[in-house]
Amino acid sequence: MEGPIKGQFYRLKKQDIGALIAYLARNFVVWAPTKDGGALQFTPIKLGDKPQLEYGKIQLGPKQIFFPHKEILFNVKKGKAVEPKIKPVAVVGAHPVDLIGLQRLDEIFSTPPQDYYWQKRRQGSVIIGIEPTNNKYFSDTLAYYPLVFDLFLHFHHKDSYLVEIHPRSILAQKIIKQKIFTETDLAPQPKQTNRHFDQILSDPLKVSQIIENSKKSKVWQDLEKICLNCGICTYVCPLCYCFSTKDTISASGDKCKRCRYWDACTLAKFSEISGGYNFRPAPGKRLYNWYYHKFVRAVKERGKIDCIGCHRCTDFCPAKIDFRKIIERLAKEQKVI
Ligand code: SF4
Ligand code: SF4
Repeated sequence: MEGPIKGQFYRLKKQDIGALIAYLARNFVVWAPTKDGGALQFTPIKLGDKPQLEYGKIQLGPKQIFFPHKEILFNVKKGKAVEPKIKPVAVVGAHPVDLIGLQRLDEIFSTPPQDYYWQKRRQGSVIIGIEPTNNKYFSDTLAYYPLVFDLFLHFHHKDSYLVEIHPRSILAQKIIKQKIFTETDLAPQPKQTNRHFDQILSDPLKVSQIIENSKKSKVWQDLEKICLNCGICTYVCPLCYCFSTKDTISASGDKCKRCRYWDACTLAKFSEISGGYNFRPAPGKRLYNWYYHKFVRAVKERGKIDCIGCHRCTDFCPAKIDFRKIIERLAKEQKVI
């Protein structure tokens, strides 16, 4: 990791956010948090829409923009595969924890075999981050580069943001030339964090060993009684990336398309193979597998746990299953805390 933030700062009046979006919309599909049907979520916005950039929590981060929950990979017509056009995107209003999530998915999807569609969407995209309104969601790691952003909006004044530009972003240098930005010598205050859930994750090797040694624990059977097998924990996780593909062929056989869509290892069908045999029929086994992938396999393969402590899997679990409490219970069982 490199040293703490030493960026270059500009001021942007909040009333000029619309002008920034209009500028970006000339070349990008602009995604920003909006209240769509009541729930705040990232959506493609049109000129004149009012995004809600200042927020504490959002159910789905920007993962879905670069890895849509359903997408056509290609169509085949007259024996020729045609890929749908992918337009460059600008994401406005991503929290630091989600910037780290994007950075980690960049690493995961760049590991051979690279994910062609992720790379294609990420290349040439613009990311504008923003400070969360609740410091519970502010990641300690924002203090370090490299972090995936072009511009970052720090809270500064009720009418304006302090805009940090990433020193290695060529696109940021171009955007910042717009007249809505003014240079300043001001710099944001260091951030206070309140990430109480980091403690248990601060020692990846220890967590990894706890999960690896827990396969026969009664904890997984107990979870089975309350888990609803809904897959929400997986869908909302910024680092879950399992998918399935489906081919659809026309009756005449001259047209077909291949789609991919999010899948979840916590769902019963995920581990079903042809003939109907399911090698993880019990929900407890599937949950163990979810933890095993995140906390054991990821460490063995990439030296990091596949969890950045965003807390979404707990906040949005209808059965209120808290992954930290599970790890703590397993640690107590194994007498390692
Ligand atoms: S969100 Fe909760 S109830 Fe649903 S699959 Fe995950 S752990 Fe089970
Ligand atoms: S806290 Fe849960 S949702 Fe967030 S990164 Fe970790 S496993 Fe995924």
